Amino acid sequence: MQDATRSLTMEEIEEKIKNCQKCPLHSTRNHAVPGEGNYHSVVMFVGEAPGEVEDLHGKPFIGKAGQLFSKILQSVKIKREEVFITNMLKCRPPGNRNPSKSEIELCLPFLESQIAIINPKIIVTLGNIPTKYLLSSKDGITKVRGKWFDWIGGIKIFPMFHPSYLLRHEETTPGSPKELTWKDIRELKKEIEIISKNTG
Ligand code: URA
Repeated sequence: MQDATRSLTMEEIEEKIKNCQKCPLHSTRNHAVPGEGNYHSVVMFVGEAPGEVEDLHGKPFIGKAGQLFSKILQSVKIKREEVFITNMLKCRPPGNRNPSKSEIELCLPFLESQIAIINPKIIVTLGNIPTKYLLSSKDGITKVRGKWFDWIGGIKIFPMFHPSYLLRHEETTPGSPKELTWKDIRELKKEIEIISKNTG
């Protein structure tokens, strides 16, 4: 992770994100979406990029996928405001296309700065893009979800399916993405409780 932006406050980073013109996405965005939540959270959730609704309002995960994401959190009594929620990319790729490698690389320092400030114990990567990028892994989300990975600075990464993927796979039969996600969120909650107990 880079050290250069470590001395900035979260508010200063958010300001930089809102004014960023490093990649072409600034010219098509309505709002940049820095992320929101608790700057002292034990856990950070990292999605892919804002969608249409997020771009209109400047908030992460508030569209259809976001509503499902909130339900997943609520199922284990995690409140959105208790945790920090953000994305790899802070601006919406037009038509929700996949982020390009250069967009991700140009945007990454913002995420790194947010991680440095929050200093979470756990990063939950939602879906393939943040998982592959942060873990530098070739394995897809189906293979790595629900597993713990040691990352930089003692942080653990816990990949989960992206809620948009769950919207496309409605079934809840054993072994289905939804059923596995409900299992994963319970596992995450268990780990958060252990960490909270150990840190008083
Ligand atoms: N999908 C994402 O990855 N992030 C959002 O904020 C919304 C949808």
